[in-house]
Amino acid sequence: MAKYVYLFKEGNASMRELLGGKGANLAEMTNIGLPVPQGFTVTTEACTRYYEDGQNINDDIMKEINAALAETEVICGKKFGDLENPFLVSVRSGARASMPGMMDTILNLGLNDVAVKGLAKQTGNERFAYDSYRRFIQMFSDVVMEIKKSNFESALTKMKEAKGVQYDTGLTAADLKELVEIFKGIYKKEKGVEFPQDPKEQLLEAIKAVFRSWDNPRAIYYRRMNDIPSSWGTAVNVQAMVFGNMGEDSGTGVAFTRDPSTGEKKLYGEFLMNAQGEDVVAGIRTPQPISSLQNTMPDVYKQFVAIATTLEDHYRDMQDMEFTIEHAKLYMLQTRNGKRTAMAALKIAVDLVDEKMLTTDEAVLKVEPKQLDTLLHPNFDPKAIKAATPIAKGLPASPGAAAGKAYFSASAAANAGRKGIAAILVREETTPEDIEGMDLSKGILTARGGMTSHAAVVARGMGRAAVVGCGVLKINEEAKTFTVGGKTYHEGDDVSIDGSTGNVYGEAIPTVEASVTGDFARLMTWADAARTLKVRTNADNPRDTKQAVAFGAEGIGLCRTEHMFFEADRIAAVREMILSDTVEQREAALAKILPMQQGDFEAMYTALEGRPMTVRYLDPPLHEFLPAKSMTAEIAAIAKELGTTPEAIDEKIDALHEFNPMMGHRGCRLAVTYPEIAKMQTRAVIQAAIKVKKEKGYDIVPEIMIPLVCEVKELKFVKNIVVETIEEVFKEQNTELQYHIGTMIEIPRAALLADEIATEAEFFSFGTNDLTQMTFGFSRDDAGKFLESYYTNKVFESDPFAKLDQKGVGKLVKMAAKAGRETRPNIKLGICGEHGGDPATIEFCHNIGLTYVSCSPFRVPIARLAAAHAAINAKMK
Ligand code: PEP
Ligand code: MG
Repeated sequence: MAKYVYLFKEGNASMRELLGGKGANLAEMTNIGLPVPQGFTVTTEACTRYYEDGQNINDDIMKEINAALAETEVICGKKFGDLENPFLVSVRSGARASMPGMMDTILNLGLNDVAVKGLAKQTGNERFAYDSYRRFIQMFSDVVMEIKKSNFESALTKMKEAKGVQYDTGLTAADLKELVEIFKGIYKKEKGVEFPQDPKEQLLEAIKAVFRSWDNPRAIYYRRMNDIPSSWGTAVNVQAMVFGNMGEDSGTGVAFTRDPSTGEKKLYGEFLMNAQGEDVVAGIRTPQPISSLQNTMPDVYKQFVAIATTLEDHYRDMQDMEFTIEHAKLYMLQTRNGKRTAMAALKIAVDLVDEKMLTTDEAVLKVEPKQLDTLLHPNFDPKAIKAATPIAKGLPASPGAAAGKAYFSASAAANAGRKGIAAILVREETTPEDIEGMDLSKGILTARGGMTSHAAVVARGMGRAAVVGCGVLKINEEAKTFTVGGKTYHEGDDVSIDGSTGNVYGEAIPTVEASVTGDFARLMTWADAARTLKVRTNADNPRDTKQAVAFGAEGIGLCRTEHMFFEADRIAAVREMILSDTVEQREAALAKILPMQQGDFEAMYTALEGRPMTVRYLDPPLHEFLPAKSMTAEIAAIAKELGTTPEAIDEKIDALHEFNPMMGHRGCRLAVTYPEIAKMQTRAVIQAAIKVKKEKGYDIVPEIMIPLVCEVKELKFVKNIVVETIEEVFKEQNTELQYHIGTMIEIPRAALLADEIATEAEFFSFGTNDLTQMTFGFSRDDAGKFLESYYTNKVFESDPFAKLDQKGVGKLVKMAAKAGRETRPNIKLGICGEHGGDPATIEFCHNIGLTYVSCSPFRVPIARLAAAHAAINAKMK
């Protein structure tokens, strides 16, 4: 029979899947003899069962919870619900991966009207007892019962005002007693019943709330962003309370073994005396830096430093720890591998190799590929930043530069982000509800909170630039303004933030590209040594090509030639070609295009310096190049050029109109109808290759790719045209060159008949954009409009256009790769759909033995690292 509840002493670090990260680490710390308040973990499988049983905790699990509770009571020498010496617990969620969207913590559970008196008597501290009770009522009401926190906050503020104190520490026991009654009144008003007095009922409701929080919209969104399956579930940790708010010899804090922003090796963190955990995180009182604990409590500090070192050595990674000091005794409440910025991740990984703690392969696995994104995006232009004057300075919470328009709510920022507007989310402080708005913003700016506040932690995790705790900003979220230095900024005004310095600017500051140097370059060398999958880029102009090469691209996997025709001076010739009535007219137009196209290829081959390039032949629906019928001036000009009437051109536009252009006259279908186009493109590629090879000495082997093939005869037809043209060029120029002709596999029929297609194709490149479109029957252009409902209704967990659907589309890819190899054992296999830059898809590509992935230039380092992860993980299996 499955076991659903484990005491801390029964678990260990390897049981992460079952106990969640927090539970597994609490067990591990218990095993290595660290001072951990004892307790138990309700497993992730119990969470899954809860959902299977219709959101109900079944009797077997209840029995196990009660048994574990009884044993913990014995260990701690206290009793749940006891009126003299009450046992109080914290209840915290803990999934396999830490998830900021979920319920976090309930403290002081077990208190009721009578137990609070017992606690006062036992501790000799009535103020402390009532402070704990009012905190518990507030947290339980908010987190478990979903009563708005602001109800309680405003009652607390009113009480402070009435008593004339600034901080809650100024309230007396009598004040807090009164506040408890007010809080209970709020509960009754909101829920219609009294605040629950039975501690077991409180515990059961809290456990259910953790399980429920696994499926709240924020958690679902976070899972989608981070590829976390919903089937994992969350564990619940029930742990004996220790109190940081027992007076001036008590306190609580969080610390990292290395700086999570820069990676520097030094103990880094904050603590507050006479406080509970949420005071540090909420940023209501300003915490002290951890180093000053040395003065406040030298012995505790020494012990803490020793524990931090033990934990880092034990886990061989930077640790993020939570601790509480109760009457000068130190307790560890949590440890985990700390979240860090990309810059810190690289420095820590490289340092741990130099400190002989990790092998290079292990170090490579310590850096999340997607995290590199922040380092690959622009920083402020050094000249522009020198000339700019900051309007304010906050804490540098998450590095990177961001410039955009100010928005004062998460939803406004999210809306702007979706429209492609660069948004800076400006808030008093952020809460877990803000996660989507934070994700869709370029940067986050808050007036309150410290380096471990919600905004700081979440922004670092997401790789968003963030400046927090910028107290000089007077933010009015309702009026959508902030005021600083006598000037008021409104929604939509330009703001720039520098998450590395904490500076805030009231203007848009231009940004510059990033480069791969230092620790980044060192780690990438190790990644390149580990990976077997090659990484190419999708590029169709020299600028992107150079950027991709600088980021380590090993060639171009997809040059979309239609992207080379959209510029104003070219489109006229292309229109002329499309609208021609006779082959002669079309050839005349193509003759104008040829030198432009050849010039582009020469520039691309030059930028590539000998690296390979797959040139994909023209693939848009033709009408994309035509003017709309309302554009009468353009139509008149074309008519004049072609010696015909505007009416005739209008007719032609009508004739070319397609109801479903994505399924229409595009790809190789164009070459079948108008072989002249393929001929022109072949001349351009081969002539450019011959020229650059001769001039620069690069060994160029052109790769010509025929798109949208569904039938081998179709490929053979176009290939014949290409080969004939190549032979003509060779004859004319009295020279020869090696070349390859291949195809895209992007129509399900092509995947099904890949064995036949491989008789003609020397390589396959999986066009998973179209393959996904046609396998699902979802339009690439429109699916976004309804997929959102698929996520909220849990039909899909991720966007199949971003992360390859390995089950369905992946099955076709795998099958086609195998069939292709059976026909042509040395066939080269790549992928060039958007999925080529997605780490999960890259792992799949490695596992099925593709030769390369091709992705956009900014994703090249991510793909290199993901390919290394895939190779190392496969080796370790
Ligand atoms: C594809 O379909 O995956 C592909 C790369 O081609 P395009 O996106 O240009 O259709
Ligand atoms: Mg395609």
